[in-house]
Amino acid sequence: MDIRFQCQPGCTACCEVKGYVYLTEQDLERAAAFAGLTAQEFERKYVYRTRHLLRLRKPRDRNCEFLGAGVCTIHPAKPTQCRVFPFWPEMVEDRREWKRAGKFCPGIGQGPLVQIGTALEKSSEMKKAYPSMY
Ligand code: SF4
Ligand code: SF4
Repeated sequence: MDIRFQCQPGCTACCEVKGYVYLTEQDLERAAAFAGLTAQEFERKYVYRTRHLLRLRKPRDRNCEFLGAGVCTIHPAKPTQCRVFPFWPEMVEDRREWKRAGKFCPGIGQGPLVQIGTALEKSSEMKKAYPSMY
């Protein structure tokens, strides 16, 4: 399928979609360092750990603690799933899911054509990062 994508400045639509933000151990360390905290401090404050997964705790009033006004406040250290979006395996491998995401992501369908190999390479980052989900 033809894939075009260009993230739109000032957009945070994907951060507002209901769902959890999962982290790898490396994501946790990067975000903690960016926030000026130790990994333990960051985890205590912002992370919920299950047996197989880490995810950001959700504040009551929004989907993600780090969602500011039109910006991710930890952008340079955001978790893998945020960085790789919209090249998630379930979307790259299924035209219908890609189109569905295009309903809320204004960057889908914009910009230059993305080589399918590039898209698959990005999506494989998700599989490596969250093996229990794929
Ligand atoms: S919804 Fe799409 S265009 Fe908007 S920030 Fe997310 S990836 Fe970028
Ligand atoms: S960590 Fe940043 S990019 Fe990811 S959902 Fe939260 S605000 Fe959005």
